[in-house]
Amino acid sequence: MNDSEFDIIKKYFSFAASRDDVVLAGGDDCAIVSVPDGQQLLVTTDTFISGVHFPEHTSAKDIAYKAIMVNLSDLAAMGATPAWLTLAISLPEVNGAWLQAFSDEVKVILSEFDINLIGGDTTRGDLSITIQAMGFCERGRALRRDRAETGDKIYVTGELGDAAIGLSAVLKNIDDDVLSYCVKKLERPEARVRFAEALTAYSRCAIDISDGLVADLGHIIEASHCGARIRLSDIPLSSSAEHYFREYDKNKVDWTMVLAHGDDYELCFTVSRQDQTAVETLAERYKLRLSCIGDIVETDELSFVDDNDSVVEFLSTGFRHF
Ligand code: ADP
Ligand code: MG
Repeated sequence: MNDSEFDIIKKYFSFAASRDDVVLAGGDDCAIVSVPDGQQLLVTTDTFISGVHFPEHTSAKDIAYKAIMVNLSDLAAMGATPAWLTLAISLPEVNGAWLQAFSDEVKVILSEFDINLIGGDTTRGDLSITIQAMGFCERGRALRRDRAETGDKIYVTGELGDAAIGLSAVLKNIDDDVLSYCVKKLERPEARVRFAEALTAYSRCAIDISDGLVADLGHIIEASHCGARIRLSDIPLSSSAEHYFREYDKNKVDWTMVLAHGDDYELCFTVSRQDQTAVETLAERYKLRLSCIGDIVETDELSFVDDNDSVVEFLSTGFRHF
């Protein structure tokens, strides 16, 4: 590390630690933190590369927001309460205005979720951001992909497909105020952190929808050795999504776009029949739309059925990096 990198860290990435469980953060070779008694530590990491995970012209604030939010969504997917972050950033140049905007946004999110930035790494290179997020869960209560059981009901939070529609609106240069809602969902998704923490009281099994429901629910049934049957008519769509399909896409819902494109960062989870009412009440408390979309079944297939109970085939699955 050279002097200018040290200055960057000091100026933009040194925030006062506010949490009691942070013993030492920033300035030494490691951070020291304490995991509360009776809790387990959940750790996740995601890398964001310019031109791959976000377009080159994306603002510093939007990059910071999404890089952190997708990590918080992974914690939410397992019902963990976020506590700490590390940030490894690679920068092509020292641009004070960019760094200040990035740093300001990081600070806002950290304070919103009571998270401390406890360390990181700063290097020169193509723009790339790697965040590691850590959080707690009561021992044995984490929501896991391998915990779905035959007879469970399958739920999703929010609405699906908005991010894919937002991306399409951006790529096709569609200028339509109604679709700005979808573009916002693409650029600034909201991890369902607080709802997910509470969900651990009722659910055992969840995933966040980052690669599309087909791929992500696919992970659940594979890990849990079961199948899922989903009713297409119960898949929640926003009014903006309905507007998009009506005006720009043959007046018909493009299910591949809704179910196989990803970037939604909504939760998909399962609950037993007896906990359905409790979970629905919980969602109301968090002012979150919740949709029961189908059932976990014994066969090892993921199937989508229409209103006549006939199976609908899909060609494409989730986003693949390789
Ligand atoms: P080392 O040489 O031991 O790897 P560094 O010189 O890379 O340490 O970093 C010095 C200190 O600054 C460390 O405590 C590290 O965690 C912290 N740090 C470096 N980059 C960042 C960053 N982008 N965000 C937060 N903390 C950082
Ligand atoms: Mg280092």
